[in-house]
Amino acid sequence: MVDHLVLGSVLALSLGFVVVYNLLFFVSLYNLFIAKRNGRGERTTTTTTNPTTTTATTVNSCPGGDDDDPDVIIVGAGVAGAALAHTLGKDGRRILVIERDLTQPDRIVGELLQPGGYLKLIELGLEDCLEGIDAQRVFGYALFMNGRRSTKLSYPLENLHPDVAGRSFHNGRFIQRMREKAASLANVVLEQGTVTSLLEEAGTIKGVQYKTKDGEEIAAYAPLTIVCDGCFSNLRRCLCKPKVDVASSFVGLVLENCELPYVNHGHVVLADPCPILFYPISSTEIRCLVDMPGEKVPSVSNGEMANYLKTFIAPQIPPQLYKAFIHAIDKGNIRTMPNRSMPAAPHPTPGALLMGDAFNMRHPLTGGGMTVALSDIVVLRNLLRPLQDLNDSHALCKYLESFYTLRKPVASTINTLAGALHKVFRNSNDPAVKEMRQACFDYLSLGGLFSNGPVSLLSGLNPRPLLLVLHFFAVALFGVGRLLLPFPSLKRIWIAASLMSSASGIILPIIWAEGVRQMFFPATVPAYYRAPPVRLELNYGEISDSFEALSILYSSTIKTGGYFGLPSFVY
Ligand SMILES: Cc1cc2nc3c(=O)[nH]c(=O)nc-3n(C[C@H](O)[C@H](O)[C@H](O)COP(=O)(O)OP(=O)(O)OC[C@H]3O[C@@H](n4cnc5c(N)ncnc54)[C@H](O)[C@@H]3O)c2cc1C
Repeated sequence: MVDHLVLGSVLALSLGFVVVYNLLFFVSLYNLFIAKRNGRGERTTTTTTNPTTTTATTVNSCPGGDDDDPDVIIVGAGVAGAALAHTLGKDGRRILVIERDLTQPDRIVGELLQPGGYLKLIELGLEDCLEGIDAQRVFGYALFMNGRRSTKLSYPLENLHPDVAGRSFHNGRFIQRMREKAASLANVVLEQGTVTSLLEEAGTIKGVQYKTKDGEEIAAYAPLTIVCDGCFSNLRRCLCKPKVDVASSFVGLVLENCELPYVNHGHVVLADPCPILFYPISSTEIRCLVDMPGEKVPSVSNGEMANYLKTFIAPQIPPQLYKAFIHAIDKGNIRTMPNRSMPAAPHPTPGALLMGDAFNMRHPLTGGGMTVALSDIVVLRNLLRPLQDLNDSHALCKYLESFYTLRKPVASTINTLAGALHKVFRNSNDPAVKEMRQACFDYLSLGGLFSNGPVSLLSGLNPRPLLLVLHFFAVALFGVGRLLLPFPSLKRIWIAASLMSSASGIILPIIWAEGVRQMFFPATVPAYYRAPPVRLELNYGEISDSFEALSILYSSTIKTGGYFGLPSFVY
């Protein structure tokens, strides 16, 4: 009875949200229609009144610019850079990729690709890069409360091709396969070198200065430079306002000769002080990532870290993994990595773009970074495809402003969920936060739409920010209901109020940083409708009509469980 009451109020509130939200969407649609009928669309502005036509000729005469120059310079061949090089190369662009180190990376990052990211990989024609590297299929998560109680959360894959699932692997092997695939294209040149600066002229980026393996300093020029130099980017400062937050660090170990309690699943242990993750990275190895608050972690070299892991963390992990965990510590290959978050805050700059972690980062708890990077590449590829000529940097820059809004459904859903879950999953002495963590575990354990909804958001299969907010507050209300029913005491009312306030304090700042308007009302952002500048020449009939584009987006988002529509609300 009590459960019915709580569920009833949660559903009523959720429905109210959806109705208001969809009403607002249709108002935007109507406004757009009126604007278009009156000839006030962005397309007109870009193609006829923008005074940048002469700029294109200036850009053509950039220092050293000639027919041998590449169309695009890509800085960094990690996940984003390598995938982008192949994607733009396949579209016929001449690409120069400059990567600091072309040997196979050995890192503890980017090892679990969500099913949504796998779908993007297919869209980019790169799925074969997961073959021959002993990548493992991942079908969902198992969530453990204090290493004992557990619940299985499967990805909602029922309506997808049987091949679609998450994949986990050695990051370096995957990157090396993508580099090889990019370099196999005749028009892609992959060079080892360290980019030291971006070359700027009158506010436009003309190329890069880089140092080759032999120490030679070289300047390279291209109409478009895409900076993908990763989470420690030195080059992003002039292209965005980097507000980097390091909420915690991951300590990485590799476990051998053991089986996960749930085969082919990621494991999240809600431990003290922070969550612990396990997932397979090959048929014989399991990655363990122990989250620790802050950037400063116990020293690995003087044995403090091993001691901390053995005495404090080991007793909290599932018993099946205990022996292998201790063995991995004794083996000594303990790695650490700061977990950085950074909202996307670009300064749109003619001649340059940021991609991957250099542009936007989120807590890696939910393994969403590669999915966001690959999804961004799909958006950028689709925007660039109709353009033959990238030389008019100013017109191109204005046109590409739509990228920042079009990427939002996927990026903001994954970013917000990662930040919010990391805060909810920490242990805390605050009874309200403790209650929220327990409510979250119990809510997900209900199964059905209560687990499918959040998991579909986390996996990148259902990029709907509104649905995320609904589930988040549904968890909070679920917690409040449990506190107040059947008989509320003063103390319980106080905890319930603190819980609602903590929940708002967790999610609202993240949403604010993502941008409320871009996240929930993208249709009201003018750049959303920007059409390709006509003078940069269309290759083929891509969607150039803003109204048509919006209608197609609307219908396709509904079909694919997109974030405006109601039909897949029941996920
Ligand atoms: C601990 C941790 C775990 C993570 N786990 C996951 C996960 O499981 N799943 C997931 O999806 N995401 C995960 N992520 C996030 C994911 O790793 C990143 O989102 C992804 O690697 C970003 O790709 P990128 O190409 O931007 O950066 P990177 O892959 O780091 O590539 C950057 C490249 O640029 C090169 N470079 C840097 N500076 C220069 C320069 N000046 N000149 C030339 N080259 C340069 C570097 O050598 C590197 O090859 C994790 C992150 C962390 C920190």
